[in-house]
Amino acid sequence: MRPSKPSIFMRKPSKIKPLVIIIVGPPGSGKGTQAKLLCKKFNLEYVGSGDTLRKRQKMGDFTGEKLIKVMGRGELAPSFVIVKILGDKLEQLKKRSKINGFVLDGWTRIIFEAILTDEALNWYEWDKNVKIILLNISRKESFNRLTKRRQCKKCGRLIPWLGEFKKLKKCDKCGGELIARPDDKMESIKMRLEEFKNQTIPALNYHKKQGRLIKINGEQSIEKVFKDILKALKCK
Ligand SMILES: [Zn+2]
Repeated sequence: MRPSKPSIFMRKPSKIKPLVIIIVGPPGSGKGTQAKLLCKKFNLEYVGSGDTLRKRQKMGDFTGEKLIKVMGRGELAPSFVIVKILGDKLEQLKKRSKINGFVLDGWTRIIFEAILTDEALNWYEWDKNVKIILLNISRKESFNRLTKRRQCKKCGRLIPWLGEFKKLKKCDKCGGELIARPDDKMESIKMRLEEFKNQTIPALNYHKKQGRLIKINGEQSIEKVFKDILKALKCK
């Protein structure tokens, strides 16, 4: 058992340990949304694999070109590329004298990447205040969220398939008609869910064995999920 701390930040400024949050969860669990809320709340840097890989694609070199092809087919980028890109990103962050911390989103899709991410955080001496948050939703919920979300025909607003939004008949902003807008094609959704089950769950079990996995019920409203995360961060 680890001793409980009064706050996720140490009190004396000279002793501040940057807060590192690793956010994990099935497709459609709202990782991006919660990650961004956390960044705003604690003034953290958002480090998402999606954004970073898209930037990497544009570099015009061999790996950039190949990433466009591979990811265009809906396949995962290879682990060595993921870890290399994450390492480069951490190196950049290390140059900053003042940093409150960062949220990692989408870097630990398989156990191998989870282990190497641990190593990288250890290497950069950011391993003292790491929180791993799992947004837990069922496979069925995940599937529904990805396939049943809707979009307003008039203003383009995306209506997620969760909580109160499910009941909407018309756009809550402009009253426009709502049309189905699946996240992706059905085949690629099924593939993402399979990947999560076969590859990511073993990575989560690895963190669980370390006693570091903070499980949050992700099948609640965005606000409630966020509240639960804040509660968990303070008492862990
Ligand atoms: Zn609208």
